[in-house]
Amino acid sequence: MARFSYQREEIPMQVTAVFQCTECPTWQRVDMKDENEKDCPICGAKMRMENKELPVLRNHI
Ligand SMILES: [Zn+2]
Repeated sequence: MARFSYQREEIPMQVTAVFQCTECPTWQRVDMKDENEKDCPICGAKMRMENKELPVLRNHI
């Protein structure tokens, strides 16, 4: 498992739309804007769109 680190001073954070599974901690970034419902790839439950604070991605600047 990846080790989580919380370096909030160094990594700029941004509120991003994600799909959050209703049954497990799995979440995914929303890739397609017209997508508003998705099934969890791990457990198959419904995922719902939420806003999550994530590190800013720099590769699209
Ligand atoms: Zn799930």
